[in-house]
Amino acid sequence: MQKNNVLQLTWPEPDIARLTFDDPRKSANVLASDVLAELADCLDQLESRSGLAGLIIDSAKPGMFIAGADLREFARSFDLPTDQISQMCRHGRSLFQRLALFPGVTVAAIGGICLGGGAELAIWCDRRIMADDPKAQFGFPEVKIGLFPGWGGTARSSRIVGLGNAVELVTGGESIGPHQAFAMGLASDIVPAPQLTAAAIRLIRAEQRLQTFLADRERWRRPIDVNETELGFLGATASGYIQQQTKGKYPAPLAALNVLLEGALVDADAACELEAAGMAELFGSPVNRALVNVFFLSDRNKKDPGVASPIAPPSEIRSVTVIGAGIMGAGIAAANVRRDLPVALGDASPPALASGVAKVIEEVAYSKELKGPDPARAVRYAALLNATSSDSELAASDLVIEAVVENPDIKRKVYTRLEPQLKPNAILATNTSTIPVAELADGLARPQQFCGIHFFNPVRKMPLVEVIRGPQTSDATISAAVAYAKRIGKSPIVVHDGPGFLVNRLLLPYMNEALELLLDGVPIKQIERAAKDFGMPMGPITLYDVVGLDTAALAGRVMATAFPDRTAASPVLPALLRAGRLGQKSGAGFFKYSKGSERGEPDPAFDELLQPLLRDRVQLTDDQVESRLFLPMVLEATRVIDERIVRDVRDIDLGLIYGLGFPPFKGGLLFWVDTIGAAEVVRRLEQFSHLGTRMRPTPLLLELAASGKKFYDLAGEAPQARP
Ligand code: NAD
Repeated sequence: MQKNNVLQLTWPEPDIARLTFDDPRKSANVLASDVLAELADCLDQLESRSGLAGLIIDSAKPGMFIAGADLREFARSFDLPTDQISQMCRHGRSLFQRLALFPGVTVAAIGGICLGGGAELAIWCDRRIMADDPKAQFGFPEVKIGLFPGWGGTARSSRIVGLGNAVELVTGGESIGPHQAFAMGLASDIVPAPQLTAAAIRLIRAEQRLQTFLADRERWRRPIDVNETELGFLGATASGYIQQQTKGKYPAPLAALNVLLEGALVDADAACELEAAGMAELFGSPVNRALVNVFFLSDRNKKDPGVASPIAPPSEIRSVTVIGAGIMGAGIAAANVRRDLPVALGDASPPALASGVAKVIEEVAYSKELKGPDPARAVRYAALLNATSSDSELAASDLVIEAVVENPDIKRKVYTRLEPQLKPNAILATNTSTIPVAELADGLARPQQFCGIHFFNPVRKMPLVEVIRGPQTSDATISAAVAYAKRIGKSPIVVHDGPGFLVNRLLLPYMNEALELLLDGVPIKQIERAAKDFGMPMGPITLYDVVGLDTAALAGRVMATAFPDRTAASPVLPALLRAGRLGQKSGAGFFKYSKGSERGEPDPAFDELLQPLLRDRVQLTDDQVESRLFLPMVLEATRVIDERIVRDVRDIDLGLIYGLGFPPFKGGLLFWVDTIGAAEVVRRLEQFSHLGTRMRPTPLLLELAASGKKFYDLAGEAPQARP
């Protein structure tokens, strides 16, 4: 009997052993050090036996082979010196290498997810067979946490599937299914999941006769047969592509490419050594730490039920109504239909409804494979969409999401009409981006069944959903809304009510500061560059044009009214609006857009418009511009924590990454501050003290700066109820 009983040894045939992973402590098989030790013990036992024809490695968990290494253990090793990191790599690799030296054929029988360290274990086996199941996914996602495979995965994969395929697998980090794996020679066979063991036995018997695995072992030990020209071409194209994708912010893919290319020219052992040395450079680096934090944030979010102590399983949403078939309504309806939830879609305007339906169908019919509409998808999904003007049909769903125009009176009229007809347990939700949920709940008969479910635009792309708890919203409503958002593939964060909720509240100070910088005479180009160099997907001025200046002005007014001490209504937006410049949608905003193009060009007409409004012509460094943009966001985050808008400080980081595209390589806004230190933020703010409250350190920031504590030390501290 083994220590943790993660591995079970059985004998499907007298000379064929089978090691089955099934961690009784977890839903996933994860390669923690105790599990690796158990594997080592099992191999010790097996290697000492004579007459073994083969070894099958599989998993008893349905849909799961091995999900990867234990990242919490990794995180605890971040501060180890580099020689110990390389040693960790050698340790794991020499364990897996035993599978390629085993006295018999080794076969990984992959019935489900096979990622990271699990994929490395599988690739050290002589052969792999995969279940014909979409869950059987093989991949090296390490680059997504700022690393690359370090247990021989780069050296081994380039020898087994070819250098080009290995470069794609390792530097891209995407998984492949069984058919792609078969096509690249990674999998020898694809069979229905229940037949994996029988197929593995057949394969072992065939190898026993033909002995090809021994020839392969010999071949895979040597350098790869590739000439310098091929290598140069592959290196140049791959590094060009990687640099374009990572914009120099994510070092792992390029480092992986170098290790793969250099490792091709030497024997496998030397290639593994290059890998271990390269890993030591990346492991524990700031980007690695930040990306691992994002992984933890997302993992925590997946497990968060949205309420402190769930008393019952959340009620299941089986049907949804969306009222308002505009930009957001159509996007929300499509997100539901795509996840097989029936949707009733309504709109006060029949043409708007018709155009909304067309948008939904266009979106859900799109096929990635065909790179265009797939009629079969259109027919299948159309059956789930009911465009209707009948109130009784609209009121018949488990969840009604209102996405009509941003006007509290119009929204409340919709509720007054529909609420009396709703099912007793139905939830009513608003997609408002600015109006407090408390204000909209006023007059409802069942305010406990009302909340905000705030999607982000475009719904198809943005993973975040803010679930907003009004003063009377019940736990049952919140947990059902959270479960529903997850059901349609979103990442919900529960926030308390307040102007701009979480994400827009933090976005506005940043956007506002971009306008202030313009008035101070800082060139648009410099503002945009500072934001993009920081890692934002686009600069704030471009973002204004994308959002639309009318919408931005409306949101800006809401914030200026709520927080007049730190948000001055800027004269820039009204001037642009008076000139009929609404942003991208009208062909001109801060930039001008040639017909049909989403790419803005500098526009002298805007410069002329700005001239009379200029207050100053200050010269700021790029670092100062960066501070002016991002530090007001940090200050607002401290207020959001104080006001208990979020249930946990970590929600701020995930919300900004998933809702705004805040750079994951910084780990989140607060994680970034924790990295540079609150005292450093206070120091950076000093130079802007003449700008007033919006640049003045808040009590919470000062407290952290004085105590040396981090924002993440507050994680888990925020109480559920607001004071
Ligand atoms: P939109 O103007 O594109 O669509 C609104 C739709 O509501 C229109 O089709 C209109 O005909 C319909 N409508 C108006 N009154 C109605 C009524 N009484 N009954 C039924 N339908 C009615 O607006 P949008 O951008 O989709 O915004 C909708 C809501 O989503 C707003 O509350 C907005 O604040 C919020 N929101 C918008 C965004 C965004 O980026 N656009 C993002 C998040 C949230």
